[in-house]
Amino acid sequence: NPEPGAAPRRPTRGVAVRWGGHVVRVGGDAPVVVQSMTNTDTADPQATALQVRELWRAGSELVRVTVNTPEAAAQVAALRDALDRMNVPVPLVGDFHYNGHKLLTQFPDCAQALSKYRINPGNMGGGKRRDDNFAQMIEVACRYDKPIRIGVNWGSLDHELLARMMDENAARSVPWSANAVMREALVVSAISNAERAQELGLRGDAIVLSCKVSHVQDLIAVYRDLSRRCDYPLHLGLTEAGMGSKGIVASTAALAVLLQEGVGDTIRISLTPEPGGDRCREVVVAQEILQTMGLRAFTPMVVACPGCGRTSSTVFQELAASIQAFLRAQMPVWKTQYPGVENMHVAVMGCVVNGPGESRHADIGISLPGTGEIPSAPVYVDGERTVTLKGDAIAEEFQAIVENYVAR
Ligand code: SF4
Repeated sequence: NPEPGAAPRRPTRGVAVRWGGHVVRVGGDAPVVVQSMTNTDTADPQATALQVRELWRAGSELVRVTVNTPEAAAQVAALRDALDRMNVPVPLVGDFHYNGHKLLTQFPDCAQALSKYRINPGNMGGGKRRDDNFAQMIEVACRYDKPIRIGVNWGSLDHELLARMMDENAARSVPWSANAVMREALVVSAISNAERAQELGLRGDAIVLSCKVSHVQDLIAVYRDLSRRCDYPLHLGLTEAGMGSKGIVASTAALAVLLQEGVGDTIRISLTPEPGGDRCREVVVAQEILQTMGLRAFTPMVVACPGCGRTSSTVFQELAASIQAFLRAQMPVWKTQYPGVENMHVAVMGCVVNGPGESRHADIGISLPGTGEIPSAPVYVDGERTVTLKGDAIAEEFQAIVENYVAR
């Protein structure tokens, strides 16, 4: 249940994405779904299965894999089998460009093993060939009863549609800006292809739409418009968001505005991984956006002050980091044993200025003493000061208190 202050979700048709008995609902009254994408070669089912499992364990509720070559398509069923053997029920979404119509028809095991197909109508050729290719993919989706995402992208927009709309714009008495025509073309491409898919026989509750762009204001404008003009569930994501803090900040800025307005049924944070970086970071960021906005809860939240000149010792930073890591690591077990634990708030504060106040507001809080003092930290449980921890084992003792509180 969203916290007070969050806008009601925009009503959309619910789409069920299934694998076996496992169902992930996107849209309707379902919570906003977190998804991610692998960056392994799908032709290597072992490596891809391991990464899918990592993403799923981190909290990805759908995982997309690229299906770009016959070699990749030939291994999708093996990938699915490997995941089933590892008890990883997460539905797989196949990402198709250029040759999806061929791969889905030539590799029926692949078409069956995937739970959803992502179709980019801008990457299917032109003219009649494009229409035929699209129809072929929809025919496969109908045959195997699979939902699709019509995924339009600024960087691969349907050239014919854009050229026609640019011509129409030139004939206007007051032409729109080129940017406005691009935005309109994205929305028209998504909705018209969804309508065509329905004309070809796909159910209306088997279609998700996305219109990804790489600039924040464009993304907000496009999705606001899209949400006014259709009731298909919407997949939000700022494409090519970038690396590190820039990618996180840009994605959060764009998605927070839309989510606050009730727009968006599933999200992906597209971060460029740092060399050797953790692919699961995009899942954690997506969860943190939803949780800090009060839209969903995934793991107990740690409130930690930024520290200042009063906290020159490293005790405070180490304690905050270790508690955050500890809570996240416990969640796979805790969420099955202790339903609701994800709503818990833990405060780790650096000194007496704000420490006792924040700690009392949290379910459990600890307030360190600041600089130059012997570590001695009062702990607050449900607003009451209980014990004071001292010495070098504060982190371990505080973890034990948190664990006991959760169990209790
Ligand atoms: Fe600094 Fe204390 Fe405020 Fe933390 S609570 S930022 S240590 S003054």
